[in-house]
Amino acid sequence: MSQTPLLGYFFDVSLRPLSSSITLYYIVYMYFPIFLQKTSLLLVVSSMTISIFLCACFKTGSAATRPQALLPAAVQRPEVPAAALNDESKPEITGAGAPKPAPVDTGITVEIAFNETLSRVLENAGIPEEMSRRILAKVSDGPSFIMDLLAAMEGDPYLRILVDKRHPLPDRYAPDDLVKLGGKASYQVNRADLLLRRAAAESLEEMAAAARAEGVTLVASSAYRSYDYQVEVYARNVRQMGQAAADRESARPGYSQHQTGLVVDFGSIDDSFAETRAGRWMAANAAGFGWSLSFPNGYEALTGYRWESWHYRYVGKELSFFIDTYFDGIQQYALQFIREWERTGIE
Ligand SMILES: [Zn+2]
Repeated sequence: MSQTPLLGYFFDVSLRPLSSSITLYYIVYMYFPIFLQKTSLLLVVSSMTISIFLCACFKTGSAATRPQALLPAAVQRPEVPAAALNDESKPEITGAGAPKPAPVDTGITVEIAFNETLSRVLENAGIPEEMSRRILAKVSDGPSFIMDLLAAMEGDPYLRILVDKRHPLPDRYAPDDLVKLGGKASYQVNRADLLLRRAAAESLEEMAAAARAEGVTLVASSAYRSYDYQVEVYARNVRQMGQAAADRESARPGYSQHQTGLVVDFGSIDDSFAETRAGRWMAANAAGFGWSLSFPNGYEALTGYRWESWHYRYVGKELSFFIDTYFDGIQQYALQFIREWERTGIE
């Protein structure tokens, strides 16, 4: 493509400012998030895409077409292999044969600052050391972590809000787009008055249709619970089993994931669910539809709840991918991390 000296020269001089501008976007993004966040994400991503595209197109141009000799000695730099032409632009081409970027001063500075921030956030979020090490290693392999994080943080903040025993929902929070479950659905309902937020209800239908195609019927037994209803549930549990046991099984009003309108308890709502066909199907497939098991087996010390094989929260496909890819499927870790990142990581 760039076989004429003129074209080669054009891209030689134009790629550098382009990649510098990406570095600048990185810096600005990390230090001035308030101005940027949403709108500039588009800018950053499109700049990266254009840069990667141009680099990919012209990395095959022969060295002779890039008139290094025409530049003053002071701005000349050692020739790099064509495959490493995209060295200054942090995003690299992924997939087979992807070139490893050679480090450049500005890139290294930004990378160190980013890694320091990330390490601090991982630590403050209580992420286990081994998991943090793996995440940091993935970051040094390329920009996919930051891209996946940004994707997970897009959209409705209630998909990623941390709601646990220490973090309540906003006072008397109630979603405004609840829809009734059931009707002509691919799943069954255990009672007629179940409500869920629209996006979660649509996703539930999509997931249930896929399950049904494999001969598995999903049964929704509990979904949205209002603050007032949770007052009743919790009080009843305390009456029946005492406070300590009630706290293992149910949330205090304002602290329940069910109040988000994004959670479904499936089937029998007890341990037997895990061994049913629906329980096994959900364990294997729910994440692919954007659903995440909130209280996995063996993590009571972390989540505050005993294993609940039936309690799934709709977090969206981007976030469920993020949870699975970087946090071993442990929703609590990912949400703690994102909360800390939003609080302090992008200051
Ligand atoms: Zn539940």
